[in-house]
Amino acid sequence: MSNVTVCVRFRPLSHKERKANGDRVCFKRLDSESFVFKDEREEDVIFSFDKVFYEDAEQSDVYNFIAVPIVAADAINGINGTVITYGQTGAGKTYSMEGPSILHCNKQKTGLLQRVVDELFQCLQPLESLNMWSVKLSMVEIYLEKVRDLLDLSKDNLQIKESKTQGIYISGATEISIMNNSDALECLSEGIANRAVGETQMNLASSRSHCLYIFSVQHVSTDERVTAGKIILVDLAGSEKVEKTGAEGRVLDEAKTINKSLSALGNVINALTTGKPNHVPYRDSKLTRILQDALGGNSRSALLCCCSPSASNAPESLTKLIKTAPKSIP
Ligand code: ADP
Ligand code: MG
Repeated sequence: MSNVTVCVRFRPLSHKERKANGDRVCFKRLDSESFVFKDEREEDVIFSFDKVFYEDAEQSDVYNFIAVPIVAADAINGINGTVITYGQTGAGKTYSMEGPSILHCNKQKTGLLQRVVDELFQCLQPLESLNMWSVKLSMVEIYLEKVRDLLDLSKDNLQIKESKTQGIYISGATEISIMNNSDALECLSEGIANRAVGETQMNLASSRSHCLYIFSVQHVSTDERVTAGKIILVDLAGSEKVEKTGAEGRVLDEAKTINKSLSALGNVINALTTGKPNHVPYRDSKLTRILQDALGGNSRSALLCCCSPSASNAPESLTKLIKTAPKSIP
C-alpha cells in the first residue's frame, strides 16, 4: 500500500455561490470514498479517493482520518509526515489548516495545525520529567521559487541543503523551541502575521505562495535511542489557472512558477502512488525538494484536495481532481 493518502474535501456553499446558483452543486454523493462529478457538459464522472469529506464534515473528522496516524504513531518514532492542502483559492485550504482563525476560534472549528500541536504534546508530555524530547517549529514561504523565513523576514532567500544526519533541511531557517501549546500558538500566529506583513509590503496575495509549517521532533527513548521525525504541514498556493490573455509581468511569472511547482508535486505524488519510487523527480522544484524526505522514504503523507461545491467552479475543480485522483474511474 502506498504511504500517500489522497482525500477530497468539499466545503459548504458560500452565500455568494448560493446567490448565484442556488443550491446546485457540482457533485452527487455516492459514499464516503466516491462521488459523481458533473462536468460542464453535464456528463457524469465517478471519482474515488481514500476518503471524501462532504460539506457536513467536521474539522475533527478530517484531522482524525488524515493526521492522527502521522502525528501519534509516526513523528515520535522518527517517521516523517506531511499534510498538504491543495486547491483553488477560496476552496478551504487555509480553513482546513488554521481554522477560521489561529487564535480566536471555538474548539470545534480549530484546524489541523492546532490539532497536530495538541496531539503532539499529549503524546510527549508524559515524558516531560525525563526531559527526553524536544519540538522545534520553523515557518517558511515559497514565492517565485525563493524560500522566505516567516519567523525572520530579513531572511528572504534561504537555501535547501542535505546532510547525512539531518536529511533535507533549510539552511539558516529560524527554529523556535516549543514546550507546550501556548508556545506553539504564539509562534504560529507570529509567522502568520509576518506572512501578512510581507504580503502588504510586496503587494502580494497570500494565495500566490506556498506556506510550510515544519515541526522537528526529537525523542530519546528509555534505551537512549535518539529518533528524529519531522511533521510538515503545507498550505499550497491556489491552483487556479490564470487567464492566458491579459496576464503579464509578475502575475504571469507567479502563475508559471506555481504551475511548475504544483505539477512537480503532482509528478512526485504520482511516482510514489504508482509504485515507481526510483524515478521520483524531487529536484524539479523547491517545494518537492524540501518535502523530499517527508514524502518519500520513511514517511507517511496525506493530500487534502479542497474543492468548492459550486457548479460554477466545476471545470476548474475537475481538472485538478483528475491529476490527483489515484483511483479515478474514467
Ligand atoms: P483557501 O485558503 O483555499 O483560499 P479559505 O480556507 O480561505 O480558502 O476558505 C475560503 C472561505 O470559505 C473562508 O471564508 C472560509 O472561512 C470558508 N470555508 C472554507 N472551508 C470551510 C468549511 N469547511 N466550513 C465553513 N467555512 C469554510
Ligand atoms: Mg488560503
